[in-house]
Amino acid sequence: MSSTGFEGRSVVVTGAGSGIGRASALRFAEEGANVLVADLNPETAHQTVEAVRTAGGVARAVVGDLSEQRVVDEIVATATGAYGGLDVLVNNAGIMDRMSAVADTEDAEWERVIRVNLTAPFMLTRAALPHMLDRGRGAIVFTASEASLRGSAAGAAYTAAKHGIAGLTKSLAVMYRNKGIRANAIAPGATSTNIRVDAEATAHGPSVIGPYVGLAGRVADAAAEQAAAILFLASDAAGNINGTVLPVDNGWSAI
Ligand code: NAD
Repeated sequence: MSSTGFEGRSVVVTGAGSGIGRASALRFAEEGANVLVADLNPETAHQTVEAVRTAGGVARAVVGDLSEQRVVDEIVATATGAYGGLDVLVNNAGIMDRMSAVADTEDAEWERVIRVNLTAPFMLTRAALPHMLDRGRGAIVFTASEASLRGSAAGAAYTAAKHGIAGLTKSLAVMYRNKGIRANAIAPGATSTNIRVDAEATAHGPSVIGPYVGLAGRVADAAAEQAAAILFLASDAAGNINGTVLPVDNGWSAI
């Protein structure tokens, strides 16, 4: 049994083809967990699975768009079928908006960002919960954002979606706290992943991202800093921590 208690546990990580999700999948696998890598991108999802297997771990992939119920159902069926249950769900996948203010946000941008960043985690959590409730235990960790805490870290759609994640985290914590389920979130500041590069390329990006990284002080490391916080919140060591949105932001939220 590893010291973190993940040995043999069934762990689903969304967005595990890249960035914070990939780093988390690798860390869980290092701790002996059986990892389900969920991502839209087949190539990067399978690269993560290969990296886990090369390191001697256990992983398999489900590829697809998390905003589709069919994909959500496949993720839960695959994890429970292959690993005998579902102990940890990391709702991490997300996309940026164009850093747009409300007046510049078109319906399509709003709906896609809300769908992927808020509705999809809700759908996957709803599908996973019965399996956790059956066993009377489960840990859910969301990747929220600095944009869950303030209005100046992204555009309107992303900020609204990530504030929604903070609310979802707290609602889950309160409503399932006596049933063995914990729900927490990390709120990353600027972190070195592919998402930040994408944001910098958008029309509104450079003017927003510059001061944003300035306020963040420095760019965090996806593995050493964000994934480590996710593993902690998912672990038994965080057994009395429920409903928290933990800034991992070099003190940005303290300003
Ligand atoms: P990333 O782009 O490196 O990884 C995101 C992954 O999610 C990608 O592999 C992508 O293919 C996947 N994904 C996107 N939409 C999907 C969908 N519909 N279905 C399935 N998979 C999908 O970015 P990251 O920074 O590692 O992002 C992880 C989380 O961290 C996101 O929720 C993001 O909002 C959050 N976050 C990132 C930062 C940062 O500075 N990087 C800051 C705050 C919050």
